Amino acid sequence: MVLDFFEEMSKGADILELKKNDIYTSEITDYTIEGSGVCKIDGVAVFVPGACVGDKAEIRILKTAKNYAYGKLEKLIEASKDRTESDCIISGKCGGCTFRHISYEAELQFKQKRVTDALVRIGGVDSEIIEDIIGCEEPDHYRNKAQLPITVDKDGKIRVGFFAPRSHRVIPLDSCALQSKAFELATEVFLEWANSEKISVYDEKTHSGILRHLYLRHAKKTDELMVCIVANADKLRHEKRLVSMLTERLGNLKTVVLNINQEKTNVITGKKCRNLFGDGYITDELCGLKFRISPLSFYQVNRDQAERLYGIAADFADLKQGENLIDMYCGTGTIGLSMADRVGSLIGVEIIPQAIEDAKKNAADNKISNAEFICSNAAQAAKQLKDRGVCPDCIVLDPPRKGCGKELIEIVSEMLPKRIVYVSCDPATLARDIKLFEEKGFTSKKAVPVDMFPRTCHVETVVLMSHSI
Ligand code: SAH
Repeated sequence: MVLDFFEEMSKGADILELKKNDIYTSEITDYTIEGSGVCKIDGVAVFVPGACVGDKAEIRILKTAKNYAYGKLEKLIEASKDRTESDCIISGKCGGCTFRHISYEAELQFKQKRVTDALVRIGGVDSEIIEDIIGCEEPDHYRNKAQLPITVDKDGKIRVGFFAPRSHRVIPLDSCALQSKAFELATEVFLEWANSEKISVYDEKTHSGILRHLYLRHAKKTDELMVCIVANADKLRHEKRLVSMLTERLGNLKTVVLNINQEKTNVITGKKCRNLFGDGYITDELCGLKFRISPLSFYQVNRDQAERLYGIAADFADLKQGENLIDMYCGTGTIGLSMADRVGSLIGVEIIPQAIEDAKKNAADNKISNAEFICSNAAQAAKQLKDRGVCPDCIVLDPPRKGCGKELIEIVSEMLPKRIVYVSCDPATLARDIKLFEEKGFTSKKAVPVDMFPRTCHVETVVLMSHSI
């Protein structure tokens, strides 16, 4: 995608004359899909991270490729009207935020354009059906989950921090503008304990030391807090003191869990957990239902926007009593379960066994008895359901970034659902899949981009399709 974009941007450019370390004055005119600024120098597209459309700047060429180049913003000559002062001392150094240097309005415009460009150009969708992006009311502190690597700073103090982009170098920082404020005090108390008890910190090179990650989750609606320590051990020295310090200082603390990860791996959590306090899970509410959140279970990181997204999906699904719904790529079942009271039957399909277990538990916890969950590859399950004679009135598709793919689209099309609601986290694969559905006789009726992850370049889209006949 990026290459296509650059090639297109550089159309008509002569042989590339740009050289490494040369400095040029130019204006940023566009963004890549990853949110880097793009300018044209001698007709060649130059990709400049941290630059903003409308910036006039001196750009230093860092690397040249066949018909595009990478540059660095050397000096800002005239700042774009969309520029804002970053309020984070490590933005640009940590991989978390793409857009702390532009206003939230400009970020939403970028996301709207990204979705429109993909759907119109690749998907052949009429731009009229694309509605305005649903922005986040609070674009900061929306993340209800933090997995903070533990490190020792240059003064020998135990700290938590963030990984630098594409690296395992930890940049120490005690708070983050994306994460729930509920994590700040929990982090402070944990660090007080770790430093006073001089607990060792894990070193991935030597595979020695104990503390690996501080893992925090907060249920926004119920205000319940979970503290989980990921350790290279099945016991912590002075763990009772940790629990009493946390329970004393954190009124909303519901559970403290030790996650045991003794593997030499980049994967953050291990498979085993031991409860140090409480039941090992917190409970949140989403779309009027209760969901259990344990260290290993999946839950949307932006609860409020997830509720909006599911609300739009429910609107598009427009379910009537007695209809049949398939929730494909259902994860822990949240989308389908939020619509279960409106349907005769719900079938959820998901490939990860643990997620299916959680989906069944979520159905039982919410006294939902018309739901069936199948642990399988989506295409295989669709084929089995079709062979079983299942005729869904509506199918919700919420695939991972790579999209649904041809095989599933073929089977789903043959099932002839009245409505397909496609929830996507990647506009390009969504557009490709829409085109395939179009060839099978389905037309896109409505599309709404939703900003689930402010300050990053990611954007979700919900599309309603129905059969033309
Ligand atoms: N609908 C859920 C989760 C969506 S994320 C929610 O809103 O929370 C996409 C899900 O698709 C993940 O849970 C992933 O495990 C699952 N998945 C990925 N590939 C799959 C496949 N080939 N078949 C079925 N499920 C798959």
